[in-house]
Amino acid sequence: MELIFNTLLMELKKCKKNKDVPVSALLIDTNNKIVAKSFNSRQKKYNFSNHAEIRVLNKIYKKLKTKNLGDYRLVTSLKPCLMCITVIEQASIKKVLYYLDNIKCNYNRILTDITFEKIGSSKESTIFETELKEFFLKLRK
Ligand SMILES: [Zn+2]
Repeated sequence: MELIFNTLLMELKKCKKNKDVPVSALLIDTNNKIVAKSFNSRQKKYNFSNHAEIRVLNKIYKKLKTKNLGDYRLVTSLKPCLMCITVIEQASIKKVLYYLDNIKCNYNRILTDITFEKIGSSKESTIFETELKEFFLKLRK
């Protein structure tokens, strides 16, 4: 799981130069092997749907030419937003592993069969949390 954490952290750092909220996502197969990775680039591309989760699903959709990605699990630094959850359902993903809770989303507004599992040590979650906090602090300056 250390490789998964490190890869997410490296991806998320790519958000910085475009002033995008630092969030990253990976797809892993049944052997926990990383098959695709991505980061949020909404601001970079001025595209609402460019969240890391949607981008990583689109990568594999394009590569495999199938929208049934049920054999994969999604891993994210931050729990996916409601828009992304809807797209994750479209891709038939059953399970999402995430490091940080998303306090900005009201999950009561959505009904989903997706299983969410919080993973990682508190140290790992704190690293992602610090990245987000620093980002929003800079925005206010
Ligand atoms: Zn999202």
